[in-house]
Amino acid sequence: MRFCLLAVYLACAGALLGDFTPQWNQPLPPYRVISNLYYVGTNFLASFLITTPDGNILINPDYEESVPLIRKSVEKLGFRFSDTKIILISHAHDDHAAGCALAKRLTGGKLMVMDADVAEIENGGAGDFQYVNSRWPPAKVDRVLHDGDRVTLGGAVLTAHLTPGHTKGCTTWTMEVKENGQLYHVVIVGSPNVNPGYKLVGNAQYPQIAADYERTFRILAVFPVTSSWERMVFITRWTTNSSSFGREVQIRSSIRKAIRPLLGNTNKRFAMSYSHSSNQAGDHC
Ligand SMILES: [Zn+2]
Repeated sequence: MRFCLLAVYLACAGALLGDFTPQWNQPLPPYRVISNLYYVGTNFLASFLITTPDGNILINPDYEESVPLIRKSVEKLGFRFSDTKIILISHAHDDHAAGCALAKRLTGGKLMVMDADVAEIENGGAGDFQYVNSRWPPAKVDRVLHDGDRVTLGGAVLTAHLTPGHTKGCTTWTMEVKENGQLYHVVIVGSPNVNPGYKLVGNAQYPQIAADYERTFRILAVFPVTSSWERMVFITRWTTNSSSFGREVQIRSSIRKAIRPLLGNTNKRFAMSYSHSSNQAGDHC
């Protein structure tokens, strides 16, 4: 069987969170990525709609201010926002999840969140190990997810992979879709970014952060991929404070080692969408 990969990269930019960033919240025309997967996010923050006969799944409501833009995008594609039955997130940072409460209120959709990110969502950002002052409207989580759980609706099956580090419950979503008889593996990466200010060593609020990042890259490395992952690693931001720099180099080295066997396989096709670069969003390679 021929496997193809659709990798959709959900990064979290390095700016400090807790403040609405208007320049990340400009409208972007929605488009179909592949099969029943659509891009409905802003110019800088990726949101995805998975349509099914039984209603739709929204991944990432983004900022509260993003929700009206997402709604317009959904409607522009010919779907109803009120048909959103399930709301998922990549991770509990305000630029991807502050709109959860509003999206729930407008759609009645059930919010499903990885266990380790639930507290931040239900407490409106409180409890984040890094962004201690970040606050947004709290949202009740309807289903607590665990690593490997499946979310199903109308024939769509999404698997939640715990890929921690960026947040403790950072979640990478995978699903399979078919297009023109071809099977595609869709990977929506939670975020591998090490944001500025993150401490990988001696982090009292998140002692296992380095081990979690290592786990995440081990997980990402086993998905059927191409050299796109090399690009992903390159654009991953690494904190450079002196206390952890050596450790970061070590982690980075192990990541490169892990992905090396995956590089250069031209038999696998892929498509990537970068949440923070609209020019590249949806490129099919
Ligand atoms: Zn983030």
